[in-house]
Amino acid sequence: MTEGFNTRAIHAGQAFDPTTGAVVPPVYLTSTFAQDGIGGLRGGYEYGRGGNPTRDALQEQLAALENGTAAFSFSSGLAAEDSLIRALLQPGDHIVLGNDVYGGTYRLINRVLGPWGISHATADMADAASVEAAVAAGNGRTRFVWVETPSNPMMKITDIAALADTARAAGALLVVDNTFATPYLQNPLDLGADIVVHSTTKYIGGHSDVIGGAVVVKDAGLAEKIGFVQFAVGAVSGPLDAWLTTRGLKTLGVRMDRHSSNAKAVAAWLSEQAAVERVLYPGLADHPGHELAARQMKDFGGMVSVQLKGGEAAARKLAESTRVFTLAESLGGIESLMNYPSEMTHASVKGTELAVPENLVRLSVGIEDEADLLEDLDQALQGL
Ligand SMILES: *Cc1c(COP(=O)(O)O)cnc(C)c1O
Repeated sequence: MTEGFNTRAIHAGQAFDPTTGAVVPPVYLTSTFAQDGIGGLRGGYEYGRGGNPTRDALQEQLAALENGTAAFSFSSGLAAEDSLIRALLQPGDHIVLGNDVYGGTYRLINRVLGPWGISHATADMADAASVEAAVAAGNGRTRFVWVETPSNPMMKITDIAALADTARAAGALLVVDNTFATPYLQNPLDLGADIVVHSTTKYIGGHSDVIGGAVVVKDAGLAEKIGFVQFAVGAVSGPLDAWLTTRGLKTLGVRMDRHSSNAKAVAAWLSEQAAVERVLYPGLADHPGHELAARQMKDFGGMVSVQLKGGEAAARKLAESTRVFTLAESLGGIESLMNYPSEMTHASVKGTELAVPENLVRLSVGIEDEADLLEDLDQALQGL
């Protein structure tokens, strides 16, 4: 029997140190490993770019939690994405990506990998005709269909199993950026996706103190190619970063339960405020993806977007008026954050088809006390 999520989070890859008995596996702060004679490796380790026990511990933990067979830890989410694309695609290949993917993902594919020879087309992933048109634009070279669900910051929900079928029919692999949902709430590989990517900077690290990224797969052939590029390019996470990420990941389950319940309360409260035009949260019954999210996710997560009747001015004012919520980029930490995407996280897609509405504020609802979060939002809205 497979152990439960929290048991795997705490124990996978985390056996105590056999030499000293240290319950927490140590941080192996070393760049290289002594050899007993040429090629005589003690633990299979040779040089830190190729492998480090602390990074391996995190990778084992990530693979176990995403129900994959192999995970690769990188120095950032975007480094993970870049290495993944270079590992599996060639110049001339085509990527179909959701029309509301994270701005940095779009910038990477458009401005870095575009000149390298990768073409792309965006699609509304909930609309089969739109996906078909974007696949057709690849002229038989569509290799990846790339989706975020829930998406950032529009909180759109896409049917992963259905999209996996569409991708397979097109001869492409389905890549799911699972950063918002986390492996606690959603396991794309179980739903038919081929590859999961994460910005571990967010919920997985969970404490806003480390940048990192990961790729998780089930297929051994894909794993071999990604592992080779991880080693050959070297965009790896360092031992300290890997250790911090592992420590955060051990409490992901309890944190996500609390993020989800706080976000539910914030979303419900915001929906009743006169200054609010629309709340985007898949946990609300009137969200267009509500039933689908209830089916493919364990709970609805901690991210809430809100659009204000007072337009851009009201959104900016709200973003700058809170006391418990901190105005900052990023998300997924224990502390509540407020972000104005069109000038902050999504400034790189301003003026493109991925542009975010100017009356929208995105909330990363933390795990503080619910009453304090509601009181803070109340005083901020009163100032609009
Ligand atoms: C932050 C983020 C990324 C990029 O990750 P970094 O760790 O910042 O490089 C990718 N996808 C999503 C959904 C994100 O929120």
